[in-house]
Amino acid sequence: MTRTVTTVNPATGEVITQLAEANEADVDTAVRAARAAFEEGPWAQMAAADRGKLLWKIADLIEKNIDEFAYLETIDNGKPIFESRYVDMPMVVEVFQYYAGWATKVHGETIPVRGPFFNYTLREPIGVVAAIVPWNFPLLLASWKIAPALACGNTVIYKPAQLTSLTALKFAEICQQAGVPDGAVNVLTGKGSVIGMGLVKHPGVDKVALTGSTETGKAVMRAGADTLKKITLELGGKSPNIILDDADLDAAVKGAYNGIFYGKGEVCAAGSRLFVDKKLHDDFMQKLIERTKKLQPADPLNPKTRLGAIVSEDQMNKVLEYIEVGKKEGAKLVTGGERATVGNGKGAFILPTIFDGVTNQMRIAQEEIFGPVLAAIEFKDLDEVIREANNSPYGLAAAVWTRDIRKAHYVAHRLKAGTVWINAYNVYDPAAPFGGYKSSGIGRELGPYALEHYTQIKDVWVNLKD
Ligand code: NAD
Repeated sequence: MTRTVTTVNPATGEVITQLAEANEADVDTAVRAARAAFEEGPWAQMAAADRGKLLWKIADLIEKNIDEFAYLETIDNGKPIFESRYVDMPMVVEVFQYYAGWATKVHGETIPVRGPFFNYTLREPIGVVAAIVPWNFPLLLASWKIAPALACGNTVIYKPAQLTSLTALKFAEICQQAGVPDGAVNVLTGKGSVIGMGLVKHPGVDKVALTGSTETGKAVMRAGADTLKKITLELGGKSPNIILDDADLDAAVKGAYNGIFYGKGEVCAAGSRLFVDKKLHDDFMQKLIERTKKLQPADPLNPKTRLGAIVSEDQMNKVLEYIEVGKKEGAKLVTGGERATVGNGKGAFILPTIFDGVTNQMRIAQEEIFGPVLAAIEFKDLDEVIREANNSPYGLAAAVWTRDIRKAHYVAHRLKAGTVWINAYNVYDPAAPFGGYKSSGIGRELGPYALEHYTQIKDVWVNLKD
């Protein structure tokens, strides 16, 4: 009998459907299929140019079905349809197009060595890649792994988060339609502790690309040690968003607001620690609070909605607990702070929440809440704020708002983060690398940097003399 698990719409609490729950035997079947496709058969023989065409075709088919993809992502995750339809899915399409272009440009080089030798390198695919993906940007974060992996000639086993597997299944359908050879792309739905772990430990998997929490990242590294897995990790964050006293106030308020409330704050790079210069603190906070009070959680399927449902009741409860922690720590709750009722009242909605008077040592400033909760910290001095911003186990992203170009670059150079935005927040592009310093991860996704993680180098020596 097929084991199943229910998947729920977090905006209504209603069951959407039953998903197959894979077990370790299914992991083994998927690995065998991926291995066979990698070693022999049409995928292994395919010219790079044809892989590029196939990736482009996947992009075309996603675009053709974009409304359905966006709808599935929204009912599964709770994110506003505005985000899934006009931000996430278009970027998925662009990521496949971007790496379609790379398929023919992944190659080795010739090297001038001493002696009568011709030396050259081949850049070869690694093999079977396990792409393990979280629930916050389900198909988008999958595309960051699957597109470069395929462009380089690897085969993929895609494991979506159990809470948000619907777009992964639709993606599998699209791959079949596009003509992806059997075994080149496999999708397994089920528990991370069973199939995620099963993939990490399986000797037939060559590489693991995980996006998830830092705890999961550590567990994956430990479990991957026995089979010496090649591992890249995109993990958590607690990103500082720094407002200097000469910032364009309105632009910075908007940046602070989008930095935390976009994606319900369930964004690894969310600007969840807001540092505001004491000189403009009061004006700034007043404007930010006014703006935030107008943001009401609402039906994610309504195109006007800008704050959707938290991904699950469990995650909502975790966020609400952090709000209690913030109150107990003595931070000042200036807006939000509670569950909101939307529609049938069974959805997991939280009011956008701001704590002021936070210190960087508080738990709400150090730990990833992963919800629409902002911790605002006042500062007086530039070097002090850089020190405090860096005083975090994480180092995923950061932003600085200022009109002074010298200060902007000074801060950008000194921040320990994989991405720094200057007078902007939450902008991404398939060509721009993304990844973390410190406990935020290992390796970079997107851009040409990702190709390093999906290929290995073979060096060839040719004796030119006798
Ligand atoms: P999670 O770590 O619980 O799960 C991520 C994925 O790993 C899921 O598919 C899950 O099933 C699987 N998994 C869980 N335990 C596993 C194990 N022991 N072995 C193998 N796989 C396992 O994360 P989540 O709750 O789905 O997502 C939120 C987290 O992801 C946050 O910490 C967030 O910061 C992080 N994230 C990081 C980035 C980034 O690019 N750095 C982007 C998005 C989310």
